[in-house]
Amino acid sequence: MAEMTRRTRIICTIGPASRNPATLRKLVEAGMDVARLNFSHGTHEEHAAVIRAIREGETDWGRPVTIIQDLQGPKVRLGNFIGGRAMLMTGELFTLTAKPVLGTSERASLDHPDLIAALKPGDQLWMDDGTIQLAVERADVDSAVCRVIAGGVVSDHKGVALPGIPLPVSCLTDKDREDLRFGVAHGVDYVAVSFVRSAADIQEVRKFLLDRGASVPIIAKLERAEVVSNLPGILALVDAVMVARGDLGVEVPLEEVPIIQRDVIRQARLAKVPVIVATQMLESMVTYLRPTRAEVSDVATAIFEGADAIMLSAETASGQHPVEAVEVMSRVATRIERELPRTALPAPRPEAYGFSEAVAEAACRAAEVLRAKAIVAFTQSGFSARLISSERPHVPVVALTPFTEIQRRLGLYWGVRARLVRKVDTTDEMLQEVESTLLEDGTVRNGDVLVIISGGPMWVTGTTNLLKLHRVGERP
Ligand code: PEP
Repeated sequence: MAEMTRRTRIICTIGPASRNPATLRKLVEAGMDVARLNFSHGTHEEHAAVIRAIREGETDWGRPVTIIQDLQGPKVRLGNFIGGRAMLMTGELFTLTAKPVLGTSERASLDHPDLIAALKPGDQLWMDDGTIQLAVERADVDSAVCRVIAGGVVSDHKGVALPGIPLPVSCLTDKDREDLRFGVAHGVDYVAVSFVRSAADIQEVRKFLLDRGASVPIIAKLERAEVVSNLPGILALVDAVMVARGDLGVEVPLEEVPIIQRDVIRQARLAKVPVIVATQMLESMVTYLRPTRAEVSDVATAIFEGADAIMLSAETASGQHPVEAVEVMSRVATRIERELPRTALPAPRPEAYGFSEAVAEAACRAAEVLRAKAIVAFTQSGFSARLISSERPHVPVVALTPFTEIQRRLGLYWGVRARLVRKVDTTDEMLQEVESTLLEDGTVRNGDVLVIISGGPMWVTGTTNLLKLHRVGERP
């Protein structure tokens, strides 16, 4: 399958509209780099079938697909309703109770009874991504009587957002722990943690993984108001962040979302942490074949601001045109990238600057001045490729690694093409491996300039200290 020149990565949420192997193939052909499995929906059997289809398909497609397991997290949910749904009428009263009752248009149970006790008159609750609004009028330990400010239809297990009300629960629920065990056993490439509040939440997930001998990289989903002030601590610990605008847009006023998106992208870029912009990017394509102008502008804004990856949710999970949505996203991204300047970020702070950062920055500069054909990172953990990627060089970036799981992780990084190579021992062997790999796949011809970075000793993580300028075909 032909490789794309697009550099922004495209994440597709896989669901009923896209999980059969034929559609997965079409999504990859259209430009899917990363598949997101949303564990708020679906059974383990369904997710296992998607993982199997992707891993089997990769050989045929000729390139890996990165898999993100997205955990549900402590999302507060309503219980079941008589008949599966109920209409909440604007102006009427609706009671939330800690008791396990079947819901009607007058009452429903909440799956976190502790929260009922934390509610007080005046608190606002939102459902259905913010379209239904309730205000608490009176509350006691096991029920809260609310006025319906904006009504609508609610159904079984609908999520409830309680902006500003601290959740008295861990960000890893029992269900998340069970799902995470499943994810580790099935070899997911990243785990996305929902409703992260602070660095302590990331430490808890990391410990859970390490206790099981797993080192799956962690994506923090930023969707709570308090996360903004805790961002530096979170960025120091995570492998990527996601601006999860769906829940964020309920937690904070909508007009704050673009400001938070811009600030998060800026801080993540400075910390050299990949950043994903998610939710409603091409929402109208759930139904229509063409996006709105505003949606195209939204995709463009995320790219201009410096996002590594942009994400489709309902568009590919349950929409009517999943493949077309990826095609549109890919076309828009490819065009907008041509307008990107070389990084306009302020210089990094010296204390966050070591050998690896210096080598990566020098490599990008040399590659642009020498009009190199590619910047090549020989990488054990993917870290040096991430440093190069965060410089956003115009020159193509190729990461060479002997590890399949690292090759797959690299699928999330802006502009990095990852290839598997032999595990060589010396820099001479490394040069031969670079030349033969890139001559074979047509990336370079004799006489082309390559800028290569690696570590010494080789294959030791965090020792990027070598910068080699090389003309293909010449002796090392
Ligand atoms: C979001 O809220 O934007 C998001 C990506 O999370 P989820 O789809 O799990 O609600």
